[in-house]
Amino acid sequence: LLTGTVGAAAVALVASACASEDGDSGSGAGKKVGIAMPTKTSERWILDGDNLKASFEDQGYEVSLQYANDVAADQVSQIETMVGQGVNVLVIAAIDNKSLNGVLAQAKEADVTVIAYDRLILDTPDVDYYTSFDNTKVGTLQGTYIAEKLGLTAGETGPFNIELFAGALTDNNTKYFFGGAMEVLQPYIDGGQLVVLSGQTDLEQVATENWDGAVAQDRMETILTSFYTGDTKVDAVLAPYDGISRGIIAALDGAGYTTMPIVTGQDAEVDSVKYIIAGTQAMTVYKDTRELADVTVDMVVAVLDGKDPEVNDTETYDNGDHVVPAFLLEPVSVDATNYQAELIDSGYIDEADLG
Ligand code: BGC
Repeated sequence: LLTGTVGAAAVALVASACASEDGDSGSGAGKKVGIAMPTKTSERWILDGDNLKASFEDQGYEVSLQYANDVAADQVSQIETMVGQGVNVLVIAAIDNKSLNGVLAQAKEADVTVIAYDRLILDTPDVDYYTSFDNTKVGTLQGTYIAEKLGLTAGETGPFNIELFAGALTDNNTKYFFGGAMEVLQPYIDGGQLVVLSGQTDLEQVATENWDGAVAQDRMETILTSFYTGDTKVDAVLAPYDGISRGIIAALDGAGYTTMPIVTGQDAEVDSVKYIIAGTQAMTVYKDTRELADVTVDMVVAVLDGKDPEVNDTETYDNGDHVVPAFLLEPVSVDATNYQAELIDSGYIDEADLG
């Protein structure tokens, strides 16, 4: 957290230094930002919200930060309220990427700048920029980890049993995560080195409503009782997010697994990092939400100063209406061998929290 705050403060200093040369204020004084986050049930969105709020406030913005408990309609009303309160900017991590068209049209009428935060908003002309991570790479990191740990990349032929999980279909990221993972895994499934005993391989079959770990746990329990009888064991589970990974691990635990299959994850949540240290979850994909907040604040400052914000991708994220200019950060694969350097030494997680 400290790094994020210091980083934002440094950005603030640079911004105000440039601004005084320009002769305008360059700060957020008198401007309002509305931040709409999906849920507090997952650690990452709490960090995202806190980091964004602190960084915007450092720049002098007035901030309204709202969470909608994964209920899309509630998020829409929260955003409507923010527009009514006269925000200049909206930073939105959408619950349902297709539910926001109406409210964003209202936002545009009111001349509000709209940033899709982490999750792209679809089928609307009214989203200006996108800040996120390389979402396909998140999936390829997960798939590659499984392929390497099973020895497939070194020529092992198995066959190994794998089951597949994806996130919520209402989240545009889901298909990128799953697609990235399947780029790596599909050839081994086609070649017979990996076998999906449940036969569930389509995104619609493996998606998890609301990214809910309990939903994933139920599905895994059903798969285990239906397809993994006798000595048949699961060797790997593709899981897109730490909360889902822990649900899957609970199901495996309940079914008597003492050695866990390779279970992937995402977000470097404290509980999952504990599992990684204990050896029950194999890996997670770490995305530094402090950096994402900083990049987003920089973008907003530039736009409201009438400048072109820095973007590094202008072709990947077509929202069905237009390609949304994006700034994408790099995700990092983390397991027991590098969590110390990546998560603790970087200050992302406090070592005491892992005790
Ligand atoms: C985010 C992931 C997160 C997931 C569930 C996705 O949109 O990119 O970091 O694990 O939502 O909250």
